[in-house]
Amino acid sequence: MPGFWKTLFSRSEAVGDDLASGDEWQKAVSTTLALPLFFGLSESEKHTLCELAEQLLTDKTMTPVSGARLDASLRAAIALQAALPILNLGYPAYLGWREIILYPGEFVPDREITDDFGIVHRVRQPLSGEAWEGGPLVLSLDDVIASGHCQGYNVVIHEFAHKLDMRNGSVNGLPALHTGMSVETWSGIFNAAYTDFCRRVDADEETEIDPYASESPAEFFAVLSEYFFEAPDILFDDYPAVYEQLRQFYRQDPLTRLAPFLQGVEPS
Ligand SMILES: [Zn+2]
Repeated sequence: MPGFWKTLFSRSEAVGDDLASGDEWQKAVSTTLALPLFFGLSESEKHTLCELAEQLLTDKTMTPVSGARLDASLRAAIALQAALPILNLGYPAYLGWREIILYPGEFVPDREITDDFGIVHRVRQPLSGEAWEGGPLVLSLDDVIASGHCQGYNVVIHEFAHKLDMRNGSVNGLPALHTGMSVETWSGIFNAAYTDFCRRVDADEETEIDPYASESPAEFFAVLSEYFFEAPDILFDDYPAVYEQLRQFYRQDPLTRLAPFLQGVEPS
């Protein structure tokens, strides 16, 4: 192949890979929007969601590592699911950091942490995602594929919820609330629910909500955000006041939106 054509060819390939566009992108968007997670969205909401997803793809770089392979359908799955929590909040909620790192599956960071006694421990545990304060967001692609099926699990929403939590400083389960919402009300409701949930987990009670939510108030907020969007009926049954706070925070009502779908999948 002559040099010029070779350069042009490889450039167009690179562009096709970096900025998914055209038919392949449209197909990936349609496939993703057919996930149960997006059931009941209006055409105009879907349009806004796509705009937010495209802003995310322009604003953030996606870096595959450890042999991860990114294609249009994975890019669409990440960007559209990340866009759902900010559908009515606007894109600026995700500004201030640049990179999304993608592993093919669960990853095991090998790092040392210092505990309260000043003792340094080497930590090795498999993770499906991570969100660094001011730094990158990390996702396992296997877990991205497992998200969006209305089964209470969504690694994308989980990690982006941490990012929303971090916007006002510490990662503590208290994101910046909108005008008209009360920090006292939010804290009172979340603390009561968190205390109750930890008690249930400590008592070995079988909970429908993932026991990982008892890890810390920050994890409680991130996991309950997953249920808010993926299985709002489970969250509403256990902690209706938390559901109401999240409805005000995300400015969405997935329980109403997903009701026909959730009723349809309930065993008769
Ligand atoms: Zn987390």
